[in-house]
Amino acid sequence: MTQNSAVVAQMRQLIQLLAQHNHAYYVMDQPTIEDSEYDQLFHQLKALEQQHSDLIQPDSPINKVGGKPLSKFENITHAVPMLSLGNVFNQEDLFAFARRIEERLPNQKIEYDVELKFDGLAISLWYENGVLVRGVTRGDGETGEDITQNVKTIRNLPKVLSSEKGAIPELLEVRGEVLMPKSGFEKLNAENEAKGEKTFANPRNAAAGSLRQLDPNIAASRPLAFYAYGIAQCVPHHGQTTMSASLDWLTQFGFAVGERHFVCESIQDVQKAYEQINEERPDLTVEIDGMVIKVNDLNQQQKLGFLSREPRWATAYKFPAVAALTTVENIDWQVGRTGTLTPVARLNPVAVGGVTVSNVTLHNIGEIHRLDVRVGDTVSVYRSGDVIPKVEKVWPEFRPVDTVEVHLPESCPVCSSPVVMPEGEALARCSGGLYCAAQRIEAIRHFVSRKAMDIEGLGDRWAESLLHLDLLKDVADIYHLHEHREKLLTIEKMGEKSVQNLIDSIENSKKTSFASFIFALGIRGVGETTARMLANTFQSLEALRAADLEALKKTPDVGDITAEWIIDFFQAPHNLEVVDRLIAAGIHWDAPVAPTRQPLNGESWVVTGTLSSMGRDEATQLLQTLGARVSGSVSSKTKCVVAGEKAGSKLEKAEKLGIPVLNEEQFIALMKEHGQIEG
Ligand code: NAD
Repeated sequence: MTQNSAVVAQMRQLIQLLAQHNHAYYVMDQPTIEDSEYDQLFHQLKALEQQHSDLIQPDSPINKVGGKPLSKFENITHAVPMLSLGNVFNQEDLFAFARRIEERLPNQKIEYDVELKFDGLAISLWYENGVLVRGVTRGDGETGEDITQNVKTIRNLPKVLSSEKGAIPELLEVRGEVLMPKSGFEKLNAENEAKGEKTFANPRNAAAGSLRQLDPNIAASRPLAFYAYGIAQCVPHHGQTTMSASLDWLTQFGFAVGERHFVCESIQDVQKAYEQINEERPDLTVEIDGMVIKVNDLNQQQKLGFLSREPRWATAYKFPAVAALTTVENIDWQVGRTGTLTPVARLNPVAVGGVTVSNVTLHNIGEIHRLDVRVGDTVSVYRSGDVIPKVEKVWPEFRPVDTVEVHLPESCPVCSSPVVMPEGEALARCSGGLYCAAQRIEAIRHFVSRKAMDIEGLGDRWAESLLHLDLLKDVADIYHLHEHREKLLTIEKMGEKSVQNLIDSIENSKKTSFASFIFALGIRGVGETTARMLANTFQSLEALRAADLEALKKTPDVGDITAEWIIDFFQAPHNLEVVDRLIAAGIHWDAPVAPTRQPLNGESWVVTGTLSSMGRDEATQLLQTLGARVSGSVSSKTKCVVAGEKAGSKLEKAEKLGIPVLNEEQFIALMKEHGQIEG
């Protein structure tokens, strides 16, 4: 493809997209993309046309206004064309707009009239001798639709002009916007929803859809309002010399104008007014999508005149885009402190919602597949208010030919351990929990906690410092800290005494229980109770390491997914290395003494209610180790009932039958007595 034909192809693609979205917006009143996305496509085409004016396509929408009027209404040609507005999106563009005006009006003082930019539908109203005779939509700027019957139903719009202050003009053509104030819009949507009818995406569509109904009763039932923003014709002339005065003049006849309105003496003040309104926007009664900046002096306006589709003396200053198009430069996988792998799209930086966005989380592999987003894709990034920016749309039209589908990495980008994602889970994880640098701080924090290895003095703050000093690559290094006494002393606020305390505490932690050790490993899904169950079931580290999925699933308190996590953990070679180093460093526990005698041999026990220190499964397991059979119901053969909180009918039955009942405290005491619980 030659360079020219590539440019033409790009232009054609944009023209086709713009035509499609113009139709959805102007004709169907049902846009499928945000205005800011539309504006960006429009500006892309405009920029291309500026660079390649010889290639401009005859059907380009750049110099056209709106959409063709619908044939269901009578078409009316405007006496004075209804134009659009140029737009600026930031201070730099705004100042450039002012400079262009200053260049055309050298040495003149220029004041600006700053108005709300209503997000509704432009219409033109004709008053002959004070009587409303016609209301017409903007249409394509030259020709609009005659919607007089609908316009007459708008309540805040004067149908007959009267004024105590001055004469009524013979002809007055007022331009303004019809819109649905926010409160009316919300009410209408709530009513429609209750009736199971279609709701509107935004007040603009609701207003446009209402006004272009053939049945005026429908328009009459909708909460529409009209706000005036200009005078196209007035015979005899109204005598006002500024834009702001002409708006004030209109109010004497009962026309509503915007609830905020500024006259600014400099473009810097315009910027301030814009910022103020951007902040006050949520408090306004109507939806706006920016401000309109107009040269205030009507004479100056006339001298400046028009460009093809817009006046030179006015521009729209749009609020920050809520959605913007950009390209995905890369997709990286980040490993969180708990091992979760999160895909992050690295974007070509783009301004959206008032900030520049260059990274966006894609959440998980499922979301990537849902969007089918690929490196090189053009995407829309959304952000409104303080909401975290997100990719919500991929533009297949702009996809380069050589993109490839994104897959979950097989190994962790930080530590190369296998990445795992059990079925039914949305998140993938690195299985190198003990080894992975990204998970180090979390692994250490957990490992030293009281119910794990209980190493006092290795609190969060010091753990961070030790990481900085590169003394802890993984938890096994904790048992080598004593070799780095000098370095430890360099840590702020760590004196001889605290170093010694830390080393002692580490030394003391070496004697532990098998259950605490399992818990300390931080295997996903393995909490304190599960760790105890695993310890009781497998009795030795070797047996636990060698356990297969079936054996794990049979362990009380171990669900299917946890069983998989345990397998994954012991399959990651790096984890095994760390476990071996921990054992080599001297961590040990007393081998569980199998009860020589089974003191409860053959007895039938029942566990009921909620125990605070363990689950019923665990209590059952402890009783079974001592030889008891644990049954689900109380009968005269029941030897004893263990009753936790909220024990119900089983407890009642036991009491009725005179069967001995142990509360939790008594049960724990019994287990301690038989060496089943430490302490
Ligand atoms: P515009 O809305 O950017 O600006 C011109 C219009 O501003 C005027 O016609 C007028 O109706 C209005 N306006 C509001 N307050 C005003 C005031 N105080 N003074 C003067 N005019 C005021 O331009 P446009 O030509 O109407 O159309 C483009 C708009 O429609 C853009 O916002 C564009 O994003 C949107 N659009 C969106 C889609 C979509 O698919 N989302 C498709 C087509 C167009």
